[in-house]
Amino acid sequence: MNFDVIVVGGGLGGLTAGAKLAKEGRKVLLLEQHDRPGGCATTFKRKDFIMEVGLHEMDGLDARDMKTRIFRDLGVFDEVTFLKVPEFYRFVNGRYEFVMPHDPELAISSLIEVFPSEEEGIRAYFERIMNARKVIKETAGEPEGNVGDYLDSIIRDEDLKLILLGNLGYFHDDPYTLSLNYYSVAQGSYFSGGGNFIQGGSQVLSNFLADSIEKNGGKVLLKHLVTNLLMEGQRVTGVEYRPAGKDDQGSIQAFGNEIVLNASIPSLLNFSLPNAYLENLKKEVSVRDIGASLLTVYFGFNKSLKEIGSGNYSYFLYDPSVNSQSDIKENNSGAFEQRSFTFVDYGQVDSRLAPEGKSVGAVCCIDYPDQWNGLSKEEYRQKKEHVAQLFIDRLESLIPGFRDAVEFYEVGTSLTVERYTLNPEGAVYGFAQSPKRVVLDEISSLPGLHFASAWSKIGGGFSGAIFNGYMAAIKILRG
Ligand SMILES: Cc1cc2nc3c(=O)[nH]c(=O)nc-3n(C[C@H](O)[C@H](O)[C@H](O)COP(=O)(O)OP(=O)(O)OC[C@H]3O[C@@H](n4cnc5c(N)ncnc54)[C@H](O)[C@@H]3O)c2cc1C
Repeated sequence: MNFDVIVVGGGLGGLTAGAKLAKEGRKVLLLEQHDRPGGCATTFKRKDFIMEVGLHEMDGLDARDMKTRIFRDLGVFDEVTFLKVPEFYRFVNGRYEFVMPHDPELAISSLIEVFPSEEEGIRAYFERIMNARKVIKETAGEPEGNVGDYLDSIIRDEDLKLILLGNLGYFHDDPYTLSLNYYSVAQGSYFSGGGNFIQGGSQVLSNFLADSIEKNGGKVLLKHLVTNLLMEGQRVTGVEYRPAGKDDQGSIQAFGNEIVLNASIPSLLNFSLPNAYLENLKKEVSVRDIGASLLTVYFGFNKSLKEIGSGNYSYFLYDPSVNSQSDIKENNSGAFEQRSFTFVDYGQVDSRLAPEGKSVGAVCCIDYPDQWNGLSKEEYRQKKEHVAQLFIDRLESLIPGFRDAVEFYEVGTSLTVERYTLNPEGAVYGFAQSPKRVVLDEISSLPGLHFASAWSKIGGGFSGAIFNGYMAAIKILRG
């Protein structure tokens, strides 16, 4: 089989690249090992409920956002409905409760009202994140700082810093190792464009992109795992694949002029590529940290949580034992009894994830595979049950009546993410976005091989994966 382009993996990066290339007339084959397209951007059905795997809120979609142009180009807005999320988040830590609006001016005035003596720092923070791209250009070549040090330099009150870092888990697990530039651009986009949820869940977007590959003459082959890349000299010219889960079946070959890798960059180390390339890749991967994973408790509720007084779309709960930024990292790997977490109440928007009168929500916290590896099947099941009960208790204190509203729940850990995406350590945002990334060269590729995922240049999240996918397509189209 011969194609213009073969895409390995059907996460958002691969789907966006494939959809753009197919639209421009390229003959595309996309291979995805799971039974549905989307990677983290998928949903699954349980009882009456559609469970959202990986979207709490997508930043931006304002006129300046590149996604707006990409979605227009691909016709996404014709068929996918984006719902504005009512507020950024409600922060709760036992000492403060603060609702962070998306509107930056309102956010500034609300924060100054609570922390009048920190006005200068609050203004400096918003000035920095709302003009992130300009600042990055002006400071090009200077050593890049981290978010923790930056906040320490402009703000004294630790609780104010924690409030600003409510949604840190959208990017990383520790402010002191998170690139200030990366954070500023991403966080700025949440304030300039707001947050968005996809009506029906992120699978609607993934399905749209997969369908548009097929409508434009391409092929999307689900439940097929790519096991190797084929080379001619130094050029990547094709893939070997087989039905997923069927190790005993022989592999099939497909050839393409260009190969787009949406699967993780470290997964290349499993392929038989030239030794010199693999040796270099090993080094390039080893100087980077792999980003964090997430644990999710998916909930189906027998009612709208509005009925029991839930008034916010997303809650960020920091345990009272997190007194300062420097406690965050430890808390993220500490006991689940104290683990900071977010709760998303999808019933606050017209999400269409549950039938009339019911609703869907999710708890999410940072997670690492080493907290689950080595457990027997039964121990793993029991630990998941224990964790679910802990979070239900903690939410019952926040939203009384929560426990009785729960009709269904299920826990997905970092190991679940790893299993369904094949991302090492279940990483959801690719490599960690630490300040050192700017001094590292881009990961080397091979002729004919293009990266398009959270692991590539711009990083992860819905936006990062979509940008990386689109940029890979543009590069191929330009030749
Ligand atoms: C619980 C959770 C909550 C999140 N919340 C948000 C949020 O609110 N906002 C936000 O912006 N981002 C969020 N994210 C992160 C975001 O979803 C991801 O960063 C992004 O979707 C990653 O896209 P990707 O293109 O890198 O591919 P991935 O989603 O990692 O998918 C890669 C795909 O490649 C396939 N694959 C891998 N290897 C092979 C192979 N050898 N052969 C065939 N197929 C293969 C996998 O099956 C998978 O489908 C969340 C993620 C999770 C898990």
